[in-house]
Amino acid sequence: MTSANIDDSEFRALRELSAEVGVDPLRTQGAGGNTSIKRDGVMWIKASGTWLADALAHDIMTPVRLQPLRKAIADGDPRAAAAVDFVDAQLNASGLRPSIETSVHAIIPSPVVVHIHCVNTIALAVRYDGESLVRERLRPHADVALASVPYRKPGLPLAHAISERLTKNTNVFVLANHGLVVAGETVAEVADRMTRVCEAFFAPARAAPQADTERLASIVEGTDYRLPQDPATHVVALDPKSLAIARLGSLYPDHVVFLGPGLAEALLDGGRLRAPPERRRPPLMMALPGLGVVLHHSASKNAHAMARCLADIAARIPEDAPVRVLTSAEEQELMNWEAETYRQSIGR
Ligand SMILES: [Zn+2]
Repeated sequence: MTSANIDDSEFRALRELSAEVGVDPLRTQGAGGNTSIKRDGVMWIKASGTWLADALAHDIMTPVRLQPLRKAIADGDPRAAAAVDFVDAQLNASGLRPSIETSVHAIIPSPVVVHIHCVNTIALAVRYDGESLVRERLRPHADVALASVPYRKPGLPLAHAISERLTKNTNVFVLANHGLVVAGETVAEVADRMTRVCEAFFAPARAAPQADTERLASIVEGTDYRLPQDPATHVVALDPKSLAIARLGSLYPDHVVFLGPGLAEALLDGGRLRAPPERRRPPLMMALPGLGVVLHHSASKNAHAMARCLADIAARIPEDAPVRVLTSAEEQELMNWEAETYRQSIGR
């Protein structure tokens, strides 16, 4: 039996919701975000490295035995981190590893859990005053039981931080410097709550001038850099307020994982591109202030998706907002992380 032939309407509805949020770059980007459904002692969760956008086209759900995993989390068993030892091998047709956020989904008791990197949520969740703003915005929604969760490394540390704040009613988790988790009894309930929460957090993006892509193309000609797949990526270099925010540092984990920490800025040498000399490895992404953004030719689809994400989030943060960026220790623990190396190795 595989997840593909569990043919009931709830499972189908979860795959549809997953694909819907997966194709919307304002809801989640690239391999980020994950969904799960618990039934008959098994939690089906998105496989690590796969894209929610592919939830209908491919079998991206991995079955994990819930009770032994929950016991391992409670016991501090290190095997709970990757959770591979708790995969139900007989059910796991794809052979893929479960999401690095499996423990997060497992400790939430609700049958349906959706975790996304909604840009409007992150634009609030990077702020020191984010918790009070979030509470204020959610006040009209009587069904929302909110937990504000401080930043922790994704995976087991985040799961522990959530479990400390979890009540049996909690159904919305705003994760500082990370994103949103919505839980509920049914897929329809979660979809409705998630839509309302994302709308409550809505902020318009600041307008920015158009990039001169012909000029950018001539600047990168003959170099290892290319223009981004999505022109919306340029905004972070074109809007001075967005650029000032991006210069503060890394705002959320997937930026560090897929693009490296912080924001590199390109230097121009007689109209030609020169990489910053202090870096040993060429940066995957570079901003050219006032001109646009370029990406290294080796940049993955995930890197391109995360580059656009930075523009989308920075454009929604007011310039005077008190922004918390990841510390260098928090950046370091995201790099050279075996689980993440695996996630990046799974092509789309
Ligand atoms: Zn996440």
